[in-house]
Amino acid sequence: MPTAKPLAARLAHIPPTVFSEMSALALRTGAINLGQGFPDVDGPASVLAAAEAALEAGANQYAPGIGVPALRAAISRHQHRHYGLEPDPDREVVVTTGCTEAVAAALLALVDPGDEVVVLEPYYDSYVAMLDMCGARRRPVTLRAPDFRPDLDELRAAVTDDTRLILLNTPHNPTGTVLTRDELQVVADLAIEHDVIVVTDEVYEHLVFDDARSAEGHVPIATLPGMWERTLTLSSAGKSYSFTGWKVGWATGPAPLVQAVLAAKQWLTFTSGSPLQPAVAHALDHEPDWPRELARDLQGRRDLLCDGLTAAGLSPRVPEGTYFATTDISHLGWPDGRAFCLALPEVAGVVAIPTQGFYDDREAGRQLVRWAFCKERDVITEGVRRLAAADLSR
Ligand code: GLN
Repeated sequence: MPTAKPLAARLAHIPPTVFSEMSALALRTGAINLGQGFPDVDGPASVLAAAEAALEAGANQYAPGIGVPALRAAISRHQHRHYGLEPDPDREVVVTTGCTEAVAAALLALVDPGDEVVVLEPYYDSYVAMLDMCGARRRPVTLRAPDFRPDLDELRAAVTDDTRLILLNTPHNPTGTVLTRDELQVVADLAIEHDVIVVTDEVYEHLVFDDARSAEGHVPIATLPGMWERTLTLSSAGKSYSFTGWKVGWATGPAPLVQAVLAAKQWLTFTSGSPLQPAVAHALDHEPDWPRELARDLQGRRDLLCDGLTAAGLSPRVPEGTYFATTDISHLGWPDGRAFCLALPEVAGVVAIPTQGFYDDREAGRQLVRWAFCKERDVITEGVRRLAAADLSR
């Protein structure tokens, strides 16, 4: 055993992912897990059958690095069906091992040490880990409670000629904000003015609710005039089809950006798992309405959770999309959301996610807690019943 500390400096200061930490806490304590965002019911049976068929049919050796042709074609058709985009499946689509690998490969491929990256905060935790591993300087733009909308002046001040890349996420985890066309237009104008690349994580693209402030629903920034050629759009099958463990994601965009992702991806995973790729192609082509149905059902579960949280004295901001609602716990007297969440299994038999670690501006997130509603109704009902019955104050 070497005596030196095992972790390299670029990783040593990055804490382990809070999602795994909180799921382990739920397992250990038997608490209801309203923390990590994964559904407790799997996606469509026909897609499972397609995966089994692909295994049986021998799709078990390396897939092409760029992804199997049937999936790349299906992703291209998906972008056309929903957004009118027409990525060339051979040059403008790459399959990745979940969107997390797409984010990693995109940042490794496009960001040099010292480059400045503008990112919305709270940020999904893997963005910051990857930006740190790339040696990037991050320039956060804060979505502030209670509305969690971007301050457009702050955004304008953040993007300059020093900006290499803007990293977006809409629908946004953890806040549930869906960026409006007007907000995206401000980002687009800035990206064009300062000649900046936009990387946009849109894994919750289909999980947008009917009553969203953004009544238009999800707008990919790649569809705005002048944006296709500078935007890398990332998504995955995990959230849209309730198969978060399959880890099949993709990047679409102009060939130079997609080829850049492939250049990095080949040294990360080389290729992504073969048998799940035809199954995801089947999902995109043959279950096109499934995600919309899921969103409809999820909206009811969102309301169940939000009403229950309100009844428990934890009024949330009702999200426009995603799996998550956020509450401010300042009135309960805990030093911060992390202390609250670590105590919550014992106090109430429930697990949630503190989001303070997703901010550079720690004060902005110190008292915020995220709750997942992608769970079965009886799980949510029991979770909020426990919260209402408990004394949540310090
Ligand atoms: N995306 C999921 C969430 O936000 C979790 C994924 C993970 O655990 N890294 O909860």
